[in-house]
Amino acid sequence: MEKTFYIKTLGCQMNVHDSEKIAGILEGQGYRAAAEQDGADLVVINTCSIREKADQKFFSELGKICRTKAEKPDLQVAVAGCIAQQQGRRIRSRFPQVDLVFGPQNIPRLPDLLRNARGRPVATDENPDFHLETVPTRRREVFRAWVSIMYGCDNFCSYCIVPHTRGRERSRPVVDIISEITGLASNGCIEVTLLGQNVNSYGKGLMDGAAFPELLEKVAQIERLKRIRFVTSHPKDLSPELIGSYQRLAKLCSHIHLPLQSGSDRILERMNRRYTVNQYREKVGWLRAARPDIAITTDIIVGFPGETQADFDRTMALVREVGYDGIFAFKYSKRPHTQAVRFDDHVSEEEKAIRLDEVLSVQEDIGEIRNQALVGSKQSVLVEGHVPNETGWLSGRTSGNKIVHFEAPEDVIGNLVSVQITEGYRFSLKGNLIS
Ligand code: SF4
Repeated sequence: MEKTFYIKTLGCQMNVHDSEKIAGILEGQGYRAAAEQDGADLVVINTCSIREKADQKFFSELGKICRTKAEKPDLQVAVAGCIAQQQGRRIRSRFPQVDLVFGPQNIPRLPDLLRNARGRPVATDENPDFHLETVPTRRREVFRAWVSIMYGCDNFCSYCIVPHTRGRERSRPVVDIISEITGLASNGCIEVTLLGQNVNSYGKGLMDGAAFPELLEKVAQIERLKRIRFVTSHPKDLSPELIGSYQRLAKLCSHIHLPLQSGSDRILERMNRRYTVNQYREKVGWLRAARPDIAITTDIIVGFPGETQADFDRTMALVREVGYDGIFAFKYSKRPHTQAVRFDDHVSEEEKAIRLDEVLSVQEDIGEIRNQALVGSKQSVLVEGHVPNETGWLSGRTSGNKIVHFEAPEDVIGNLVSVQITEGYRFSLKGNLIS
């Protein structure tokens, strides 16, 4: 009988896309996706270790699944992702019920690992020779897709675990990316998001010498494709040429996620971010000159070791000055193997919580003002699906990546439509369908 699998994905878009790859491999191995975890023959947890909280969430989740296995011995349990890469041996000794452990760089080995599951393999090789782009992907939607253009990261920000779990930076050749997106577009994909830890440095080490702006130009020439997004950008590598792409390429969506992390030069230096507040500020100005309606979102870490009240006040001042469209803010948490673990001037949990509340509450007000400024405007919206529990209401995203709710027939799902914005809230918009 056909076996079924269920993948539980924790963490970022990279992980979501990795899960599409894991699903593609499993389907190629004769497995079928199960709608729910209960009853699946194989459960894969694709883990995230970017923050301590995600780490704790995973261990509690794994404990529950392993208890299920006591009642259902045939259940196979696999642990993938960044925690698997970092703590493979520990997972194996703490949870002997786990059948397979494999890190993000070892996903292509999954068919082999499944064949040898009795040996309870732990696959955490670093920078292996097999490449993720060679494995099939099972995407959930036809009309939009994520496409990895590079893997790993060379930046070693002092708080970040990613270079330790995803390895060194490696860009895919332009021809491979264009061929993948052309195939997606001919099957009905109208929006693509180019993925990488730092897409702005795309091309480093490639023989064809293409940099990210040239890649964007080529992607924009793909006829049926209507929208291009990318994530994530490192401010130090955001070049004037790339900013110019917002002037040249109409298909490039009016949004950039530009992680600030801190508004204090002293803290940025300790974070090893390699830009100053003034350089960041200047690039925001260039972006707004190139594309006046651009939406800018960011990441902020509060309570980084050594962050004083004055440093935090500088962050708050910049948050107000830039006027972000959205902020992902987090309390700093120690991650193993990172440089910041060795800093000894840690901020108390209580103080971190106060700073987090402040940044989120100020941003809520800024977000509402930014969204209300769109009332009366006509927005092109890619319709993504139904609004839960609201019959007849659909949800989609503007070019600026803002969520819009509006009434429309469901046959517009997967299409670009025009919506007149009537209300602006803290985190979303409401509107009327025009066409
Ligand atoms: S750029 Fe810095 S924060 Fe981003 S993945 Fe690389 S090391 Fe981590």
